Amino acid sequence: MFEQYTKSLYVNGEWLDVSLENTEKVYNPATLECITEVSFGGAKETQLAIQAANHAFPSWSELTGRERSQILYQAQSLIRKDQERLAKILTLEQGKPLTEALVEIQSAADFLLWYAEEANRSYGEWLPSSTSAKRMIVIPQPIGVVGAITPWNFPSSMITRKLAPALAAGCTVVLKPSPETPLSAIEIIKIFEKAGMPKGVVNLVTGDAEEIGKELLENKKVKMITFTGSTNVGKYLMRESAKTVKKIALELGGHAPMIVFEDADLNKATDLALASKFRNNGQTCICTNRLFVHEKIYKPFTEILTEKASKLIVGDGLEENTDLGPLINQEAVKKVQAHLDDAINKGAHVIYKGEPLNDQLKGHFYQPTILSNVSDRMLIMNEETFGPILPIQTFSNEMTVIEQANHTDYGLAAYIFTENASRAIRVSEQLEYGIVGVNDVFPAVPEAPFGGIKQSGIGKEGGHYGMDEFLEKKFISIGIDS
Ligand code: NAP
Repeated sequence: MFEQYTKSLYVNGEWLDVSLENTEKVYNPATLECITEVSFGGAKETQLAIQAANHAFPSWSELTGRERSQILYQAQSLIRKDQERLAKILTLEQGKPLTEALVEIQSAADFLLWYAEEANRSYGEWLPSSTSAKRMIVIPQPIGVVGAITPWNFPSSMITRKLAPALAAGCTVVLKPSPETPLSAIEIIKIFEKAGMPKGVVNLVTGDAEEIGKELLENKKVKMITFTGSTNVGKYLMRESAKTVKKIALELGGHAPMIVFEDADLNKATDLALASKFRNNGQTCICTNRLFVHEKIYKPFTEILTEKASKLIVGDGLEENTDLGPLINQEAVKKVQAHLDDAINKGAHVIYKGEPLNDQLKGHFYQPTILSNVSDRMLIMNEETFGPILPIQTFSNEMTVIEQANHTDYGLAAYIFTENASRAIRVSEQLEYGIVGVNDVFPAVPEAPFGGIKQSGIGKEGGHYGMDEFLEKKFISIGIDS
């Protein structure tokens, strides 16, 4: 599918051919085989990319929304036509099951489609003046060159969720994807190229995160950093952006609680608890990390849950029946194991563990595991695990469980299961999270705002809120003769 070496630096509409000594290997996490090597860029290539984006900005931003929209529309259509191949590439480098990869590719296209439409709806405002000698208008204008940094867990949709609104707004972009999954990023850029994106509007630099990041942060031509990734890196970017007072949008880590009340539909709640925890093998920023189950339904709930979990199949994402692919790398396996060991040492009980792994599975695999008897002292109840371990705690009181759910610095997503509408609203309002799913665990859609509060981030992606992030609001105050 790929040559031994794949060009991955796209600057000013050209795929740069850099020294072959400077490459980075891309591995399949299911087989540990090297898929290809990609170019390894640094400060110099980032500088060129920023220059190109800066040069392209005036003409791109002066196009009408309708004109920009046509290219985005064309890009989403090209993605859909090629979705099977793109999904396979995603699974090869990231590991998730092919069916999940296909859903992600469609979601990547959906963001482009939604913002192709939204490009036409960049409204300003006419303010009623307090004096008859003035007229006042507010016009939205694109912020300028944007540095976009993305992670490996959703290597396609995290890119279009940023680039689609930025481009629709009239911004130009320098993208730095994760080194674990550069191939999906390359494919998206090739699609923009095919869709007729003018030179310099979108640029791609893979390589040294620190060097690329430093240039993006220090270069005054870059007006905004949009980042999805860990809270620690987000804090660093926030600190460094301050030096040139850049705007920032941060989508960071999560530690989602799921609360299952005694009146919940157990069939629905168990299905969705498994979907939320084990989708992408637990490597999702909004996946359930702590499950609180009302003590009155704990027994039937866990019986149904473990029975359903026993049907989950671990394997290569390219195999048809796989539910859980590999984790991204060995570091991820070590972290999951450390969380499990710590929990067991502090008294947790393993109430379900998947079948021993097949000897032929050479990659970074881990069995789905469910724990009971967990306590707040355990790492797993305090940090993002990013793996397939589900800890369950019981509760008896609505107020106490809300306090427990809120007892974290994270504030991305939370879930509640109840058939009582008043409770659903009451509890949603009290949960300190940017997103609350009520009997729903798939809240990431193009038309709605997605983003965390507290240390889970700043700003929103999705909906008209997502495009607002890339627009300055200029106030024009006009004195008039009466
Ligand atoms: P990460 O380690 O923070 O890396 C994310 C991106 O930042 C990668 O491209 C990484 O490149 C880059 N990076 C790291 N240090 C940098 C620096 N000094 N300057 C510039 N770029 C730098 O996160 P990850 O492990 O890839 O992703 C998992 C995390 O993302 C989890 O915490 C998850 O919750 C979060 N996430 C959040 C959302 C959301 O919407 N809130 C969505 C998905 C994921 P290198 O790998 O080369 O260092």
